[in-house]
Amino acid sequence: MGMMEITLCGGGNGIHVLAPLAASRGYAVNIWAPYRDEAERLQKNAEKARGMQAVFPDGSIKQMPHQISCKAAEVIPGVDLVVIITPAFVHESMLQEIYPLLKEGATLVVIPSRGGLEYPFLSLGYLKKRVDLMGFQTLPWACRIEEYGHRVRVFGVKEFQAVASIAEDPLELYQKLEEIIGVKIQVVENFLSLTLANVGQLIHPGIMFGIVHQYREREFTAEEIPFFYQGVGDSTARILAGLSGEIQMLKDFLVARTQLRLSHVLPLKEWMIQSYGESIGDKSSLKAVFNSNRVYQGLKAPVVEGERGYYVLDKNTRYVQEDLPFGLLVSKGLALLCGLDTPVMDEVITLLQNWMGKEYLLQGELQGRDIREARIPQNYGITSLADFLECIP
Ligand code: NAD
Repeated sequence: MGMMEITLCGGGNGIHVLAPLAASRGYAVNIWAPYRDEAERLQKNAEKARGMQAVFPDGSIKQMPHQISCKAAEVIPGVDLVVIITPAFVHESMLQEIYPLLKEGATLVVIPSRGGLEYPFLSLGYLKKRVDLMGFQTLPWACRIEEYGHRVRVFGVKEFQAVASIAEDPLELYQKLEEIIGVKIQVVENFLSLTLANVGQLIHPGIMFGIVHQYREREFTAEEIPFFYQGVGDSTARILAGLSGEIQMLKDFLVARTQLRLSHVLPLKEWMIQSYGESIGDKSSLKAVFNSNRVYQGLKAPVVEGERGYYVLDKNTRYVQEDLPFGLLVSKGLALLCGLDTPVMDEVITLLQNWMGKEYLLQGELQGRDIREARIPQNYGITSLADFLECIP
């Protein structure tokens, strides 16, 4: 029997970790890197370095991928397992391109899934091909490429990964993924749980709201750049608690009216304490939990260098560019389907979209000119709670 093949889609940090990791577990690893000249650079640099190397805190792995291509048609057909690791705005175009090439009964894994991943998956017709979908809540590694195609540094590995699936018999797949990725999988009931339990949609837009509210276009010297988590004050903590409360309201509404189980969707403070435990010095309030979490110490607000060596807040940060259209807006879309008011979400979305130069929310509805970018259920023909419940597999 030949080696099992796996195709990884993307060419960023996460792919640099998973490629040598999966190869070290005995897989023939293909990489589909369609973006710019990444495939060419990966090939050239990996060959020069005689393999791609992932440097973990406790050792390193170096392996050569089997095949690298910028063309999906060269590395998708015939493969049983395909893993996408990219920012969320890339998912849909990849899903579209993969669809006609992927073999029936294959498994598609998306890391991290962010909110609403199931909508393009279902609307593209993947179920007809009996393709299984697995979505990870986050990336299992904190990692940065040091030399493209050659070496990536892994700063930390998560112990557990929350994973949801649309699959008839996911247990074997979970086991396989645990083996390849090397982290324990915590099974989450459904994709809706991943959407609602994605705390990035609360923490990042919530704190950005506070920072943008206070500073907007202000210029900072390097020393003046505000702390991101340590800088959470009373008013930002109220916004964070408000966002979390609205997600809990949505959860309670859905649990009460449907058969859905959403036990992973925790209030933010509870989630922080469960996730960071001993790293948090003071658990007395949500503000204290953010201010005193050692893991967050020293992290600054996202900035770019502006004129004359000053820094300004970065409007392209994933904290808004990813966590709104693939996070908070998806939850807002669900709240609209349920007929629930979400004044805090509305306030956060409105301020941030104005600052970013985007328009998602308009007069309380998701009908702004940029709303097509967002992975809200309404963009996939789901316009009522009945539609929504019907489409959940
Ligand atoms: P990354 O930033 O390295 O991804 C960039 C890659 O995405 C590019 O190299 C390219 O391959 C692909 N890409 C970007 N634009 C594209 C386009 N228009 N068309 C096609 N491909 C395109 O991503 P990463 O660091 O591997 O992270 C993946 C996800 O995990 C992101 O959502 C990120 O926010 C999240 N995440 C990353 C880390 C980390 O430590 N790296 C930690 C937690 C979460």
